[in-house]
Amino acid sequence: MADQAFVTLATNDSYAKGAMVLGESLRNHKTTKKLVALIGPHVTEPSRAVLNKIYDEVRVVDVLDSGDTAHLVMMKRPDLGVTFTKLHCWALTQYSKCVFMDADTMVVSNVDELFDREELSAAPDPGWPDCFNSGVFVFRPSDETYNKLLRFCAEHGSFDGGDQGVLNSFFSDWATADITKHLPFIYNLSSVAIYTYTPAFKQYGGNAKVVHFLGKTKPWGYTFDPKQRRIRGDVQEASAHPSFLLEWWTIYSSLVVPMLQQEYGDQPFL
Ligand code: UDP
Ligand code: MN
Repeated sequence: MADQAFVTLATNDSYAKGAMVLGESLRNHKTTKKLVALIGPHVTEPSRAVLNKIYDEVRVVDVLDSGDTAHLVMMKRPDLGVTFTKLHCWALTQYSKCVFMDADTMVVSNVDELFDREELSAAPDPGWPDCFNSGVFVFRPSDETYNKLLRFCAEHGSFDGGDQGVLNSFFSDWATADITKHLPFIYNLSSVAIYTYTPAFKQYGGNAKVVHFLGKTKPWGYTFDPKQRRIRGDVQEASAHPSFLLEWWTIYSSLVVPMLQQEYGDQPFL
């Protein structure tokens, strides 16, 4: 449906690489939804050009420039920069329903069925399962919700300093109100869980639909040897499962790098 979209966010060129792989993974698995990338003003021209090839819409969100509630709120809470930018997805009101996905996620199967869910649907956070993880969530763009969220954010801040804290406080009945808003964990499988509960990963990991490279080291932080098809150096256990990381790098090196090379010419971008 034309009025439904997957939405991601990248405020810089590093996260833009993640967004490129995410977009390609959605295309590879033949999504019928629109793809929207929100980008910050610091994303450079060549990265924007590549995002434009993959995404149906690339929209620059400059919270500091916007002159609306977001700007006023931001002046009070400059610490919440990226968080405010993420909340901007509620302003995409030309879409009736969207699925937000962090730029460090990748789909390993078609997940269009997520659009059957209602706002706010999300999977439990592996660190505190009564909170949802805000790396993947179903929402309905709405100016009203957007402004309420911004005001809420300005008044209460975020208990974890990021968007996940704000969103969990705002959608505070998620844990108890409606089980249909609990996405199965396979829609936001973070590698943390792979190592904290290995038998469950062995039992259910094969059904994974969305992989989330949550944590400090992101896939683009590693280096990859394309000839040997191997990640160079130590793969830090907590941050990534080797086979998912390899899948990320396969998409990056085979589909994204050629586009980046075309845009950057001889300039280095890695
Ligand atoms: N993000 C961004 N620029 C940043 C940090 C975060 O664009 O400097 C966006 C990006 O979409 C990212 C999301 O915000 O995936 C959440 O941050 P991150 O994935 O790093 O947090 P984690 O999932 O590891 O808690
Ligand atoms: Mn993330």
